[in-house]
Amino acid sequence: MQQIYDLVIIGGGPGGIGATIEAKLLGLDKILIIERGNNHSQTIRKFYKDNKRVDKDYKGKVTELTGSIDFKDGTKESTLDYFDQLLDNDEIDTEFNSEVEKIKKDKDIFQIITARAGYMSKNVIIAIGTMGKPNKPDYKIPPSLRPRINFNLDKCSSSEKLLMVGGGNSAAEYAIELSKTNTVTLNYRRDKFNRLNEINEKIIYEYNGQEKLRLRMGTDIELLENDKGLVKVNFNDGYYTIYDRVIYAIGGTTPIDFLKLCGISFDKNSKPEFDDNFESKTKGLYLAGDIAVQSGGSIAIALNHARHIIEHILKQR
Ligand SMILES: Cc1cc2nc3c(=O)[nH]c(=O)nc-3n(C[C@H](O)[C@H](O)[C@H](O)COP(=O)(O)OP(=O)(O)OC[C@H]3O[C@@H](n4cnc5c(N)ncnc54)[C@H](O)[C@@H]3O)c2cc1C
Repeated sequence: MQQIYDLVIIGGGPGGIGATIEAKLLGLDKILIIERGNNHSQTIRKFYKDNKRVDKDYKGKVTELTGSIDFKDGTKESTLDYFDQLLDNDEIDTEFNSEVEKIKKDKDIFQIITARAGYMSKNVIIAIGTMGKPNKPDYKIPPSLRPRINFNLDKCSSSEKLLMVGGGNSAAEYAIELSKTNTVTLNYRRDKFNRLNEINEKIIYEYNGQEKLRLRMGTDIELLENDKGLVKVNFNDGYYTIYDRVIYAIGGTTPIDFLKLCGISFDKNSKPEFDDNFESKTKGLYLAGDIAVQSGGSIAIALNHARHIIEHILKQR
């Protein structure tokens, strides 16, 4: 007989880890966490620069932690170590390298389907974040240039001439960090930043003033070409520049198709529907973390969602 879990958690980021730990502490016994990467916290691993400062009150948004996890300011590395410890301390079933493809509900039991296996559970939390599918530019990226084009910081090294594309906090934070070891230009298609938090905006202008990085505002990219193995970037102001690497940080999108396959409904503005307990229209199916936030998610917010959901699941028993 296949085991029926009390709770299956999809996504091993802060929301998923939070749910796992709170569930164990508050008395849910049979829990499984499924993560498509080869380890937990893929967003932190892939999108945070090494040694990046991690703020609990991210972007100045003060968030009181409501659960048992004592998450504090730190760095990328200390945050990953802390999550490692949390997961090590509890005996929790984990399935890494396993991407959930869809969820079906049959009577009161959910079937969670991955490429390799199927699992059954009474409750499911989807905590897959929004970084899984980074936005890509509309123009074509020549295949020969792909090794020199990034959508995260995976292959970045030092002493490269880099173009960072984007006007949000991720682009700014990448640019600030990378400019310490590389020559960085930050390109934003608008004349002014309008989505940066105060700290990032201040540092960006300071660095620009001190020529630690260069701003190229109000111009958009028209075309990328291969120039002797490097990236020739043609801008719409008629100029071009050659870079070792181009990094796009132009946001990520909610994986709507995946959520639909899981039985999540959407409102007329294409926002996933869930109530104050983060429960979707399908009873027992919850959304947590960035996927349940319009904008401005954070680790602390994801941990709080997790606590709230677990308390709600326990109340329904
Ligand atoms: C550059 C950058 C800097 C940031 N700095 C901070 C900061 O200093 N402080 C802070 O509080 N927040 C910061 N954030 C925001 C923070 O990282 C997010 O709010 C937080 O990670 C959200 O957690 P989550 O669990 O909802 O999603 P994620 O952390 O995105 O985790 C989702 C997980 O689900 C997995 N997954 C996705 N699809 C599937 C699937 N189908 N099957 C199985 N697994 C799947 C992914 O691999 C991933 O591991 C930053 C974000 C970025 C991009």
